[in-house]
Amino acid sequence: MNKLNSILKNKCPKCGNGDFFINGNPYLNILFHNGNCHKNCSSCDLKYELEPGFFYGAMYVSYALAIGLGCFLLILFISILGKEDVLILIAIIGISILIFSPINYYLSRLLWINIFIDKNHPKP
Ligand SMILES: [Zn+2]
Repeated sequence: MNKLNSILKNKCPKCGNGDFFINGNPYLNILFHNGNCHKNCSSCDLKYELEPGFFYGAMYVSYALAIGLGCFLLILFISILGKEDVLILIAIIGISILIFSPINYYLSRLLWINIFIDKNHPKP
C-alpha cells in the first residue's frame, strides 16, 4: 500500500510523505523542471539517487511500460480499425507513446526506486 501510494502520488518510497518529483504533474515537471526529482526527501531526508547513475536502470522499466502501452493500443485499434491500415496503426501507436512519454518517465523512475527502497530502508 505504501509503494502504491509512493508510485501513484509522487511520494518518498520510504516514509510516503515527502514529494519525489519537484512538480506532481508529469508534463509540467518535464516542461519546467527538466524532469528532475528532489535530491533528498523533505520529510525523512532519504537520498533518492542511491548511487551515481542510479536512475539509468529506470530505462528498462520505461521500455517495458512503452511496450505494454504499445501492445494494449495495438489490440485495441486492431479490434476497432481492423488489420488493413497497418501504417495508420503504427502512426497512432507511435504518437500515443510520444504523448504518454512524460507519464512513462514519471512512473518508471518511481517504480525503479520503489524496487530498491521500502519503509525499512536504512538511512544512507
Ligand atoms: Zn521520506
